[in-house]
Amino acid sequence: QCAYLCPVGAIYETPDWRKVLKILDKKDNKILVAQTAPSVRVAIGEEFGMEPGSVSTGKMVAAIRKLGFDYVFDTNFAADLTIMEEGTELIGRIKDGGPFPMFTSCCPGWINLLEKEYPEFINNASSAKSPQQMMSSIVKTYFAKKIGVDPEDIIMVSIMPCTAKKDEITRPQQKIKLEDGREIKTTDYVITTRELAKLIKMKQINFIGLDDEDFDNPLGTSTGAGAIFGVTGGVMEAALRTAYEIITNKKLPKLEFNAVRGLDGIREAEIDIEGKKLKVAIAHGTANVKKLLDDIRDGVRYYDFIEIMACPGGCIGGGGQPKSLDPDILKKRASAIYSIDELSTLRRSHENPDIQKLYEEFLEKPNSHIAHELLHTYYTDRSVKNKVVTE
Ligand code: SF4
Repeated sequence: QCAYLCPVGAIYETPDWRKVLKILDKKDNKILVAQTAPSVRVAIGEEFGMEPGSVSTGKMVAAIRKLGFDYVFDTNFAADLTIMEEGTELIGRIKDGGPFPMFTSCCPGWINLLEKEYPEFINNASSAKSPQQMMSSIVKTYFAKKIGVDPEDIIMVSIMPCTAKKDEITRPQQKIKLEDGREIKTTDYVITTRELAKLIKMKQINFIGLDDEDFDNPLGTSTGAGAIFGVTGGVMEAALRTAYEIITNKKLPKLEFNAVRGLDGIREAEIDIEGKKLKVAIAHGTANVKKLLDDIRDGVRYYDFIEIMACPGGCIGGGGQPKSLDPDILKKRASAIYSIDELSTLRRSHENPDIQKLYEEFLEKPNSHIAHELLHTYYTDRSVKNKVVTE
């Protein structure tokens, strides 16, 4: 039954679109909620003959509503939330002296590699859940309360560029505990960009002819910083925008960190934050990631903060994205992502008014007790060596 192989070797793509199709055809009084990752909107148009690099956010939202979803939320909102949580963790480590390097944790392909091949770095990874999992946790708690429904009456479907996200939602430590003690899964199904396109085609929705529609609120507002999560270097840049301004209490003179952009497999930069030099690195594509980690392990390189994405180009090149023969496809999708950031009125995660409201009304402050309960996770040693010892 497995249709496609994930390029990062993380997992086989399972055809979850069949399950989602069944739910769409027979809702059983459930509330259907979708979320869409940053890189889906810059690739799905290719499935309908649009030029590579087209941004089709509004058509994508309209198509998802036409399929029968009750609410369509933006994972970019949760990317902003990730920055608040992960950025606060980074600031805490800068104040407390480590542990360094700190690794980003939003890519489940990387987390699988970490647990299986580099368990010695487990304590270095941020404990922040991925944006997909943060969004689903907030939908089944904060949003469920807002609309007055039982969290178990919500079916949460993620639309992702990624096949490893299908595996991420099955991890036991991704469950959340509700106030009444019930333990629940947050994301119910993950379908890829290609699977969403398949559903749209099956339902004969004229994607190109759709009028643009907006995401639902209150979990639909996002910043340019959330948008750039979809491309290698984007999480780093978004985190630096927030960490710099919170640490210095000053506005950044220039928001673009050009040194962390581009498609070179391993990139590094030194960022000056009030006299403290932060050494950062970015790696994408498994071979580059392994090279970087081996060098760190061997003491050849040293960094404070590292962004890792398993797929070439980051999520724009994910295993669930449309297939393309265009040699410049990653560049085109990356430009589309950066254009969303440039055109955004809000470009720093901490300026997202709905994120601020979420903390005021529900989460209290970044890294609070409740934020830890809902938005953070842990990792385990799944290396072969550990298996031999424990079995
Ligand atoms: Fe998934 Fe993105 Fe990681 Fe690829 S880079 S495994 S698409 S999260």
